[in-house]
Amino acid sequence: MSGGRMSCPICKRPTEAAWTPFCSRRCADVDLGRWLTGGYAIPADDDADEDGAPSPGPGDNRPPRPS
Ligand SMILES: [Zn+2]
Repeated sequence: MSGGRMSCPICKRPTEAAWTPFCSRRCADVDLGRWLTGGYAIPADDDADEDGAPSPGPGDNRPPRPS
């Protein structure tokens, strides 16, 4: 599996256990400040989960007819 470490929502660096989910006190303070000032905005998630693979229709599993 790909490493399970989260990244800091503020600066995207790997999180530090002591400051989860942030990487440092600085980022924790930044996030707290955003909440307190009401300026917290959730960044747009552009990670579209769309795969254009056509889904196969219902299986047609009849055995081939002998001719
Ligand atoms: Zn950070």
